[in-house]
Amino acid sequence: MTPASALTPSDDRCPVCHEPTPAETQLWTLRSHHRTSEGEVEYCVGSCGCLVILVNGEMVKSFPVERR
Ligand SMILES: [Zn+2]
Repeated sequence: MTPASALTPSDDRCPVCHEPTPAETQLWTLRSHHRTSEGEVEYCVGSCGCLVILVNGEMVKSFPVERR
């Protein structure tokens, strides 16, 4: 790993597995969404492979990517 001295310091890390995710690769893909009595539920998969579940834009559950 080389120091990211050329990059502007930021908190661009996956909130689930804490892998550094540079802005250009920080992609959360919306897999599906439903409207429930609790609000809008969204399932997103990160570029690192983690799955997060959001309710009304707030992360309520996270599933780290499985590494073998
Ligand atoms: Zn992750």
